[in-house]
Amino acid sequence: MSPWRAGSPGAHAQPKLGVQGAECARLMGMACVLCGSMDNPTDEDVIPKWLLRAFAVERGSTTVNVREESGSPQEVRKLRHFQITLDGGLCQKCNNELLGGLEQVVQPILEPMAVRYESTALDLASQRLLAGWAVKTVYLLELASRQQYPGARPVEGYQPSNSEIGWLLAQLEQRPAKLIEPPPRSMVWLAGWDCKKADVANRASTLNYAPSTAPVPTVDGGEVVGQFTTLAIGFAAFQVFTVDYVEADVRKAKVWNPGPPNNIANAIRQIWPHRLRADDVTWPLPIFFPNDSFDQLVNWAGALRRGGA
Ligand SMILES: [Zn+2]
Repeated sequence: MSPWRAGSPGAHAQPKLGVQGAECARLMGMACVLCGSMDNPTDEDVIPKWLLRAFAVERGSTTVNVREESGSPQEVRKLRHFQITLDGGLCQKCNNELLGGLEQVVQPILEPMAVRYESTALDLASQRLLAGWAVKTVYLLELASRQQYPGARPVEGYQPSNSEIGWLLAQLEQRPAKLIEPPPRSMVWLAGWDCKKADVANRASTLNYAPSTAPVPTVDGGEVVGQFTTLAIGFAAFQVFTVDYVEADVRKAKVWNPGPPNNIANAIRQIWPHRLRADDVTWPLPIFFPNDSFDQLVNWAGALRRGGA
């Protein structure tokens, strides 16, 4: 029995928590990671069920890989129907209404891209929506990984700051799901990666998760540490930069590395924020990363730590 499951008797009788109380409860893993409520805890499938169903592959043939930016992949687990679950980590409202509503609008766009590599043109609204979904998924995936695989990874990923979680919650509560925006200062790129090994039938690396830290220099000579995380879901790979934007603003942090180097620029498209004269993104992109080139994607062909900031 997971300690996260809200077995604590009387939990429902407790009053709503204030901000400090919610933060405390979050850290203790007893409350909804989004809103801090202790009411009606539910298990969240961080990787949505529609995606799991779509990749119906042979037993043991789907892997969940977690790796550092340029490290060797660490196979966390082979599962028939892999599932990364945040046990008791979201209240019913956040899970079913808010995040459920988001999945509903994202699925029709993402499933054909990620599962079947189908051609499509992503307009600016779709790019923003996918970016918001990717940021949300990276946040929850890290929280779930910490819960499910404690100590199993050489380096843990980035735990979203309170300001980022607060932003996400406000977006989900105050806007229709299809209008959500990623947090301030976040950046999201999209790339294609061949999740299937050419010589192995029915073998797909359905989920690849590569978190890394992204320190951003500040005017006071220090840094605010955010994340640059690659999340490949089937053929669609998202790269997400986020940072505690409140702290970054207060300390006047610079912007993160604005883009990949020329030699892979055609293989990676920024989908958030929209650049001047940004237009539709045609999927698939002109170039995709072969199965054995995942690291090239993750570290931008070795240029991730150069330029920009
Ligand atoms: Zn909640």
